[in-house]
Amino acid sequence: MTSFESLIRAMPDFPKPGVVFRDITPLLADAGGFARCIDAMAEPWQGSEVQAVCGIESRGFIFGAALAQKLHAGFVPLRKPGKLPPPVVEVEYQLEYGSDRLQARSDALRPGERTLIVDDVLATGGTLAAARDLVVRLGGELVGAAVLIELDALRGRERWPNGVPLHALLHY
Ligand code: 5GP
Repeated sequence: MTSFESLIRAMPDFPKPGVVFRDITPLLADAGGFARCIDAMAEPWQGSEVQAVCGIESRGFIFGAALAQKLHAGFVPLRKPGKLPPPVVEVEYQLEYGSDRLQARSDALRPGERTLIVDDVLATGGTLAAARDLVVRLGGELVGAAVLIELDALRGRERWPNGVPLHALLHY
């Protein structure tokens, strides 16, 4: 059986010199590997009564939608600006250079809806922190976050609240 690790391609110097980009597309293209990956990502959340999965644009949509199906939950896209019709709620967050924004429909979650955030990669943690702010502003109850890959050296986990589960399948 092919391991998840062997289905993730390390791309040196992409998108800029010095960065090793983790390319997940070979994993997505492998039917068995992708299915086992979703099973393994879902496993820690079975029994957590997740009602909504918030996936972060764009690779978080792929894993998030599959996890939502697996967990019998709805799927909510957290999108880049200008993609969703109003009314929306928005958070701005800092990147290494400049800033970015994430938006959700303002009625995307029911009050207290048990919500899991999903993305492909946790790097510096800014994106996941912004998604968490959005879930709080939408009135959801944050159950935790699931990522496929955590880049340990970038210490993104330190920006995630203590005591809220954050599960990563792979660590680099
Ligand atoms: P952060 O905000 O944690 O620094 O960055 C996380 C976001 O950047 C995620 O949405 C993720 O999709 C993207 N990202 C950062 N590094 C990588 C990488 O090496 N591979 C992939 N696939 N995405 C990355």
